[in-house]
Amino acid sequence: MSNEKLDQLRKRVDELNLELLSLINERALLVQEIGKAKETQGVYRYDPVRERHMLDLIKENNDGPFENSTVEHIFKQIFKAGLELQEDDHRKALLVSRKKKPDNTVIDVKGVKIGDGSQQFVFGPCSVESYEQVATVAAAVKEKGFRLLRGGAYKPRTSPYDFQGLGLEGLKILKRVADEYDMAVISEIVHPNDIETAVDYIDVIQIGARNMQNFELLKAAGAVNKPVLLKRGLSATIEEFINAAEYIMSQGNGQIILCERGIRTYEKATRNTLDISAVPILKQETHLPVMVDVTHSTGRRDLLLPTAKAALAIGADGVMAEVHPDPAVALSDNAQQMDLKQFDEFVNSLRASSFVHI
Ligand code: PEP
Ligand code: MN
Repeated sequence: MSNEKLDQLRKRVDELNLELLSLINERALLVQEIGKAKETQGVYRYDPVRERHMLDLIKENNDGPFENSTVEHIFKQIFKAGLELQEDDHRKALLVSRKKKPDNTVIDVKGVKIGDGSQQFVFGPCSVESYEQVATVAAAVKEKGFRLLRGGAYKPRTSPYDFQGLGLEGLKILKRVADEYDMAVISEIVHPNDIETAVDYIDVIQIGARNMQNFELLKAAGAVNKPVLLKRGLSATIEEFINAAEYIMSQGNGQIILCERGIRTYEKATRNTLDISAVPILKQETHLPVMVDVTHSTGRRDLLLPTAKAALAIGADGVMAEVHPDPAVALSDNAQQMDLKQFDEFVNSLRASSFVHI
């Protein structure tokens, strides 16, 4: 073959490449349009029946020289790329997505703003045990200038024989303390039926790690007008975490605070492994405030201060830590709660850090 002929053939191949390119992009635009139409109809995007039909049609019309299996393989790749495009569009369209809403969501909890660039703190006991216990911690927390108080009334315990919490009685104690000390209270709710009642007693509904994918609970929390602190599941990926938040927001409640609380790994040195990089990822991917619970992520008192510093340095909007007047006799998590003296040292040390503004 002459060089001239070869050049001609190559030129034609280049032309065909560009034609193919324009055709697959034209196809992609159609696929995107179909994706949008399906989205509004709430239909799942991957349709195996339709895909089989398309492949059969292609193979019936295949005159070679490519074998059917090769053609099928090539077209499967094109189909897959189209599907990925639809999924990408879907992710961007999530209500919690930063692409959907570029500005930070700021949650106002009784005047305390979370997500506005300030650093906020939630302190309090693991469980509500008595009025005196909660009030003692509240006084110490308030004295340091903080107004967000935590305490579990419904405790999702690993063992059914462990302390399960005081229930409604616990919520009443929290409300009384909140009123007396002018503080806002955060407490975990574990049952969808309790959400309605809880909103009269607490200022933030916590959804715990064990319930991150309790979809009925997420929907119930999404149906009320009350901030929700959503914790990351024990083994949840960031994508699952974001989708859990989407469940809440899709019901109309956009007041969501995400809370990284450590994930389960093979590491035994800490109770869980604090996934610190989740903080900037969540901040980039969503417009929601992100907090870090240093108590449950480490399970170690000696790590509370360094992990709190790390959380704030990496851009968390706040930190949660457990404080108990006498942790040794606490009814839950007695190995990791701070006593009042340790709490005092914790706050003073944090305040001495250059990147902490409290
Ligand atoms: C809690 O904060 O009381 C709690 C039980 O935490 P988690 O759901 O993160 O384990
Ligand atoms: Mn606890």
